Amino acid sequence: MITDKNLTDFNKSNSEGKIPLSLPSPQEKFSDSCIENSQEQITLLAAAVHSAHDSIVITTTELDYPGPEIIFVNKAFTKMTGYCTHDIIGKTPRILQGPNTDRKVFKDLKEKLRNGQVFFGEAINYRQDGTEFYNQWHIEPIKNSAGEITHYLAIQRDVTDKINDQKRLVYDAFHDSLTGLHNRAWFLQTLQASLVKANQYQDYIFALLFLDLDGFKLINDTLGHSIGDIFLQEVAHRIKNAIRPQDKLARLGGDEFTIIIEDVKDLGIISQITNDIQTALQQPLILGSQEVFTSASLGITMSTMGYETGEEMLRDADLAMYRAKSLGKSRSAIFNKTMHKVAVTRLNLENDLRKALEKEQLELYYQPIIFVANQSIVGFESLLRWHHPEEGFISPARFIPLAEETGLIVEIGEWVLRQACTQCRLWQGLIPNHNLFMNINLSPRQLKQSNFVHDVEQILQKTKCDRHLIKLEITESAILETDNKADIMLNELKELGVKLCIDDFGTGYSSLSRLYKFPIDVLKIDACFIRAIGKEERKEKILEIIVTLAHNLDMEVVAEGVETEVQFLKVKQHQCEYIQGYLFGKPVSSQEIEKSIETKYLTTTNTHPAY
Ligand code: C2E
Ligand code: MG
Ligand code: MG
Repeated sequence: MITDKNLTDFNKSNSEGKIPLSLPSPQEKFSDSCIENSQEQITLLAAAVHSAHDSIVITTTELDYPGPEIIFVNKAFTKMTGYCTHDIIGKTPRILQGPNTDRKVFKDLKEKLRNGQVFFGEAINYRQDGTEFYNQWHIEPIKNSAGEITHYLAIQRDVTDKINDQKRLVYDAFHDSLTGLHNRAWFLQTLQASLVKANQYQDYIFALLFLDLDGFKLINDTLGHSIGDIFLQEVAHRIKNAIRPQDKLARLGGDEFTIIIEDVKDLGIISQITNDIQTALQQPLILGSQEVFTSASLGITMSTMGYETGEEMLRDADLAMYRAKSLGKSRSAIFNKTMHKVAVTRLNLENDLRKALEKEQLELYYQPIIFVANQSIVGFESLLRWHHPEEGFISPARFIPLAEETGLIVEIGEWVLRQACTQCRLWQGLIPNHNLFMNINLSPRQLKQSNFVHDVEQILQKTKCDRHLIKLEITESAILETDNKADIMLNELKELGVKLCIDDFGTGYSSLSRLYKFPIDVLKIDACFIRAIGKEERKEKILEIIVTLAHNLDMEVVAEGVETEVQFLKVKQHQCEYIQGYLFGKPVSSQEIEKSIETKYLTTTNTHPAY
């Protein structure tokens, strides 16, 4: 039988370092009756309790203030709390409580114990040195033979590590490890909760901001991913400082951040915060030895638009952000319903474009390129056409950017290359003396494919076309986007035997001085310079200078978009070798070309220089 007396004796002898212990012989069996009857067995059990891994505390039964009295603690308890046995005996377990102890659990504890039930629970407790730990309890009332509760037995365990692990798991699940900000999962939950609140209380209005950095990809690609990471951390820090403490910020991933602007009483606060964010981001950022400038495009939507789900709201803020991007850098746009319609149309178009190739809705048209000196056709530019089953003809100006964005351009571009090379070979066979060349447009995305040069080589081999007749058209911005390996790739293309042509020259940011290091054969002056003839003297002057510079760099010049006799005479006077434009022919199908090929080519032999 456990009595206060023998437990106190035990504690005493233990604190003096003498633990009376005698083990039962192997023949002896433990049975309840044997334990009850044998003082020796009680001592044995007390020793086992004392050495148990879990903390064990036995108290008296006063539950109200000042609380029960501790009459026994084991070794594990002294280890866990730092209290010596003689310090704690006679004290109340309340000694373990402190400022962060959640006292709500004690109501339940008292109720359970009073009713003779077992209590499980945990709370923050304090060691003797004042440090906190999470203590998990299992407290059981102990009854005597008459069924009266005589003591409470508490088995306790320090679960701080477990709780911290759990906290870390929860933290990781809702935080972005790079910036320490909240992540997408957290944001979606929070956004949903805010929407529920906004739908419930009319005067609670919030705004959602979707922020995407301008030109982050370039920073990442040119300065490397670890610098990109530091950059994102700094950006996160700046955004956080630009918003108010009550606003909620998260990083969705990549360079995308979202913000809930809380409690919008007047719209001015939104423009103030967006301005503050832009100003904060526009301050130069020193990364290693580089000074980097950035800005962001911001899409905004309001809780008053009648959203049911956070996903819908996020989607619209994203759409508004795209609209802001298309307006130029460092801009904001507020979502409106038209944007939604535009997005749906775009999505449908994207789906149709995915099927266009296999449904054979794409076709190449060919526009003649004219040798100015004798006004004869010397080649063609292949131009893509899409015959949409419902919408009819869709201009490449509309679907090429879409194909670029979705990556479909890689597959389409490969088809264009194969088709145009096949056509070139066919015409070469038809009129062998004319060496009609074929200009083929490439997209920036194609140039970024690591196996691009290899693919071109394969197509040239398979179609057996004369590779000297192939001219690949690349826009100047595409070359500059292709990072610092552009010159290597362009040289590899040249080694295949094809020629390279800069398209739409004069519209990008580059200058001839930057482009001279690339192995370019032909320069196509953008149509805007031709349209300026007779209208804008300055632009016409630039046209003249471009031609002279190109010639100095051993490039030939094509004038694009020549529509009138006046324009033709002017570009001739400025010594452009070639022209392309409606004046001499619009882009037409291969059948159209073939109809006139006999009259146009079979009579004379072409005498244009090898271009
Ligand atoms: P681009 O390569 O600069 O092609 C010239 C564009 O100017 C063509 O428009 C052509 O039809 C048009 N054009 C030619 N002469 C005149 C003229 O005298 N007046 C006017 N107003 N326009 C003229 P198109 O065919 O609509 O193509 C637009 C752009 O789409 C092309 O510009 C090119 O950037 C892109 N594109 C077309 N086909 C392909 C392709 O197969 N691959 C890639 N990546 N892009 C393509
Ligand atoms: Mg072109
Ligand atoms: Mg062009």
